[in-house]
Amino acid sequence: MYAITEKQLRAAFVNASQRERTIMTLPSDFAALDWEALDYLGWRDARLAGVGYIVAELDGEAVGIQLRRAESKPRSRAQCSWCEDVYLPNDVVFYSAKRAGKAGRNGNTVGTLVCEGFECQVNARRTPPPAYLGYDVDAARERRIEAMRVNVSNFVRDVRDSD
Ligand SMILES: [Zn+2]
Repeated sequence: MYAITEKQLRAAFVNASQRERTIMTLPSDFAALDWEALDYLGWRDARLAGVGYIVAELDGEAVGIQLRRAESKPRSRAQCSWCEDVYLPNDVVFYSAKRAGKAGRNGNTVGTLVCEGFECQVNARRTPPPAYLGYDVDAARERRIEAMRVNVSNFVRDVRDSD
């Protein structure tokens, strides 16, 4: 991602009210973020229980989505729909996002199962086990990272382009 300022970050949210954008707590390491190394920025609000955020680049623009953790827990160890990590090193939970615009004001949401603390980028970069002799591990990792970016983009697009 390209770097954005705090002001740009707060303005990037498409499904949060003015008030929600104002009270949002930024990630504690915001000033030191290595934006170029980020596929997407995801964090939990340190003050608001169950509230999380992601910011991803979509069509060359930073788009923010506010998420709420659902009360219900997945029945078994679930797989994250973004990084699709099979080792399940962290909890995967239901998050829901209010759709942008009128649909969201009417209570329309999009739900997804994702890594509780948005650990996707670390997970996607884990070296995959060689599936067979001569298996290209680096290429496999690249494919996973690319797939994760596409999954996140699709989610962001779905929430943003609701009307
Ligand atoms: Zn994940």
